[in-house]
Amino acid sequence: MTAKEICVLLDLEPNRIKEVHSNIEKIAKIVKRKGLELFVMPPKCKNCGFEFSKIKASKCPKCKSERIEEARFVIR
Ligand SMILES: [Zn+2]
Repeated sequence: MTAKEICVLLDLEPNRIKEVHSNIEKIAKIVKRKGLELFVMPPKCKNCGFEFSKIKASKCPKCKSERIEEARFVIR
């Protein structure tokens, strides 16, 4: 799921999407309290397949492409 879907799941206002990215550790804890586990799949460059180590990415350091697939979150 995307940051947007996380907001829906945790009953957060849609304008708090940015907070999902910056507070991902906090969210992981909330999710844990619900008896679930959060997995983060980092953003990926659509051009060369480069995988970012951070959650928020805008430009690929490898090929300079700005076509970035946003981070995905798996909750189970
Ligand atoms: Zn790239």
